Amino acid sequence: MAEEGKSGFKSGFVSIIGRPNAGKSTLLNFLLGEKVAIISDKPQTTRNRILGIKNQAAGQIIFFDTPGIHRSRSRLNQSMVKVALATYNEVDAICLLMEADRPDNDENDFILETLQAVEKPVLLVVNKIDLIPKNDLLPIMERYSRLRFFEQIIPISALRGEGVEILVAELFKILPEGPKLFPEDMITDLPERFLAGELIREKVFRLTREEIPYATAVVVEEFKEREGKNLIVIKATIQVERDSQKGILIGGKGRMLKEIGRLARKEIEALLGARVFLELWVKVEKNWREDPRALRRLGYE
Ligand code: GDP
Ligand code: MG
Repeated sequence: MAEEGKSGFKSGFVSIIGRPNAGKSTLLNFLLGEKVAIISDKPQTTRNRILGIKNQAAGQIIFFDTPGIHRSRSRLNQSMVKVALATYNEVDAICLLMEADRPDNDENDFILETLQAVEKPVLLVVNKIDLIPKNDLLPIMERYSRLRFFEQIIPISALRGEGVEILVAELFKILPEGPKLFPEDMITDLPERFLAGELIREKVFRLTREEIPYATAVVVEEFKEREGKNLIVIKATIQVERDSQKGILIGGKGRMLKEIGRLARKEIEALLGARVFLELWVKVEKNWREDPRALRRLGYE
């Protein structure tokens, strides 16, 4: 239902920003009720701007999930941060996620600096409230409220979905009246090919540690539907920076690669609603994270 006192439908763009691991992708997925953004317990999982469309009777909100904003030296990470900052100019409102269980996080200072000249409404979303005792919430919100002017401060648990409805209602108060910008059955503008590659990358994040997830990129080389068979053949290359990383990704008797493939295939099948034949290769591409041409080829720049 449209808001009382105002006629008509609302629509607009909203960016979800925050430090790495704040729960941005978890929030986007909960908002959409579908997994369009991959998630891990490691920082810097999201590398691109992920668009997600939420339809309600009151209107349509187009969300941007973004890479975590952090001070960084590597070229890849700097481009990731740029992607997040660039959304400031494109949106009607910004949701800044901070974590309820990490009130002393000085990484947030840097994010506030990037917002200094920004005149768009900024909502502070205090995420992960399921991790703190209820009584701690008010003092934490009070503390956060002194950091800057926020349009609203909304406590949520993106994991459990608590408070998310309130967040959406607050956003609709801010958004302008406008037409439906995307068709109702569309939840993202990302091609299935990209999502398949991301699900493979997510499994690498889940199953490997230290430098390996960060040194990994996935290139989907082939994505073909076998007509009349409800079967999709996907061939993808997982690229890493060093031979030793390649060895770990493949694992003894190919076990690691098999497990990555098995977990990814299950999720890609659920996503596409088809059987999937997934073939994975591992390739060494030295220093790709600092190589502008490699970054462009991968879509990171
Ligand atoms: P992003 O880097 O900001 O996109 O963060 P992710 O969405 O990838 O989440 C990072 C980690 O935080 C994952 O392990 C999530 O399961 C976890 N997480 C996200 N939201 C919540 C929450 O509300 N409560 C709890 N307990 N964990 C959360
Ligand atoms: Mg993310």
